[in-house]
Amino acid sequence: MGSEDCIFCKIADGRIPSTFVHEDETCVAFNDLSPQAPTHILIIPRKHIDSLAQTEPDHAVTLGQMLVTAAEIAKNKGFSDDGYRVVINTNSDGGQTVFHLHMHLLAGRQFVFPPG
Ligand code: AMP
Ligand code: ZN
Repeated sequence: MGSEDCIFCKIADGRIPSTFVHEDETCVAFNDLSPQAPTHILIIPRKHIDSLAQTEPDHAVTLGQMLVTAAEIAKNKGFSDDGYRVVINTNSDGGQTVFHLHMHLLAGRQFVFPPG
């Protein structure tokens, strides 16, 4: 799917109105439509990348920024010490349903490992 039809590109560039939990030059973060925990935030790069499987060495800064953003949001929202989980579902077996790279940031309950 090209970025023209991509729902997360539309959210990132404002074609679909959304409330951002965080935004900077590289990425934006917003609440998941179907939360799987009391806090469920998606962190996405502004630039369209289909999935983690499509990343290349050039994307290292973007990927790092996404992780740093997750940690910042956790601190700002006060759940850093209690803990949280970050997840990147990748391609079919990974359970990815939206093919614009995104990181789930989940918090507010105890998580089990391994996930299903
Ligand atoms: P994944 O299964 O990892 O591809 O996750 C896709 C996530 O995007 C799911 O948790 C959906 O609930 C979420 N989602 C899909 N459409 C939207 C939307 N318009 N706004 C917010 N979250 C969405
Ligand atoms: Zn996209």
